[in-house]
Amino acid sequence: MSTTETAVTERDESLTSVNPATGETLATYRIDDEDAVRAAVAKARTAAATWGTLTYDERKKYLLRWTSKLVEKSDALCELIHAENGKPRDDAFLELMLALEHISWAAKNAEKVLKAKKVSPGALMANFSAHLEQRPLGVIGVIGPWNYPVYTPNGSIAYALAAGNTVVFKPSEFSTGIGNFFAAAFAEANPELPDGVFTTVNGYGATGAALVRAGVDKIAFTGSTATGKKIMAAAAETLTPVLLECGGKDAVIVAADADIKAAADAVAWGATANSGQTCAGVERVYVDRSIADEFVAEVKRILTEIKPGSDDKASYGPMTMPAQIDIVRRHIEDALKNGGKAVLGGPESVQGPYIAPVVIVDADESSDAVCEETFGPTVTIKTVNGVDEAIKLTNNNKYGLGSAVYSKKQGLEIARRLSVGCTSVNSVLGFAAIAALPFGGVGDSGIGRIHGAPGMLEFTRPHSIAVQRFTIPGMALLSYSRTDRTMKLLRKLVPFLHGRHK
Ligand code: NAD
Repeated sequence: MSTTETAVTERDESLTSVNPATGETLATYRIDDEDAVRAAVAKARTAAATWGTLTYDERKKYLLRWTSKLVEKSDALCELIHAENGKPRDDAFLELMLALEHISWAAKNAEKVLKAKKVSPGALMANFSAHLEQRPLGVIGVIGPWNYPVYTPNGSIAYALAAGNTVVFKPSEFSTGIGNFFAAAFAEANPELPDGVFTTVNGYGATGAALVRAGVDKIAFTGSTATGKKIMAAAAETLTPVLLECGGKDAVIVAADADIKAAADAVAWGATANSGQTCAGVERVYVDRSIADEFVAEVKRILTEIKPGSDDKASYGPMTMPAQIDIVRRHIEDALKNGGKAVLGGPESVQGPYIAPVVIVDADESSDAVCEETFGPTVTIKTVNGVDEAIKLTNNNKYGLGSAVYSKKQGLEIARRLSVGCTSVNSVLGFAAIAALPFGGVGDSGIGRIHGAPGMLEFTRPHSIAVQRFTIPGMALLSYSRTDRTMKLLRKLVPFLHGRHK
């Protein structure tokens, strides 16, 4: 049971959404139990019969109307994101802007990615035409986290919808209001669509677990690796396919030829923006010895000015999930016990819901702050002797989500040697803002991809259709009427086709 799942007892009937900065109650939601989840999936299944048979152009129209509705309501949505998640209003707007880019890309590119293709039948099956067609899966269960409560689940929702599926979304218990706002905007933009194209179910982990068991055609999960493993185990019982977008421990490599100021600026922002609660945020840095002192001094200089808070001047907000605060404190203490030196902040930086930036240099590579996901506004920096050592240490981690490389001349070359799903060269997180690029990781960071064409294909199944256009006398390979003459011919043909490569 996850921490969130244990929070549910049979007596729990409602979920209270709380402002993480003030503790103020924002709203109360009824928890959807097993029956309610099954009813939502049944409604989505009925709606899929309509939505799944629309043309790509029709679905594009509905999805783009949704983007316009979200733009129209952006002030209210950003205010809600600020209140329920804690992030600054500007960051909320940037998150919404990226989600809009993805909805728009999915709507406009679904046909190109998914349209039926004719493929070559090959010489031995030349009397056939071969058709590769992508079909929607049906109903997708999306289970989301709270850190980017719009952008992150949208990576599954928009692409699943564009591919012709309906969606039942279980937002995080820490961002229930935002998730419901997002789905309501779709319904409001498209009143003529049947109820159930995109709806939510609300609750803690138990509601998510009920969605996994509810007969959906795929589960698209974003959240922690521990929960991802439970979901995969539960989904195995019904062979329900899963897409898992889990945690990360992203490294930045700063090579000897890096633009030091640009690298420091990116690391400072990538490590602390959104209070460090970013799956592909900067958690570790490997910097070349020749520039290490200058780089560390510059990161420290920038972060000394950066303050968390909830006012309009704050650079980032409170920790959204109270339980994470103890993990961040423990990682800082562990790093300091294991050879690390705090050049900015320390355990005292953890003050209530806010954590001020913490920079630790040369912590042992086995400490939790280097191995485990910290998910706070902290960063470890290690001095290395060249690119090979940096690559080795970057790859020596169970996670493999994102990464970044700062180098004027060898950025792409270094990027290609990293065991991760995504890399930004001379930027951090650039890959997450380019809709055509798939996003996801390897190892404990998950299975499958959101975004781009691979992210669209995740929500379809290939349907292969072979059409026999005419028969070739004596070449009935798939029949008992096959003759000895055919076999003699094949024995001559096969060495010609496949046996000439010496
Ligand atoms: P979490 O795993 O605690 O919860 C995620 C969701 O799963 C929530 O909606 C929760 O209610 C639900 N859930 C919990 N137990 C469940 C169960 N047994 N069955 C089904 N659903 C269950 O994660 P979180 O704290 O909300 O999010 C933070 C984590 O998400 C971090 O590890 C972060 O790296 C990761 N994340 C990954 C990506 C990515 O794209 N790879 C993006 C954002 C966040």
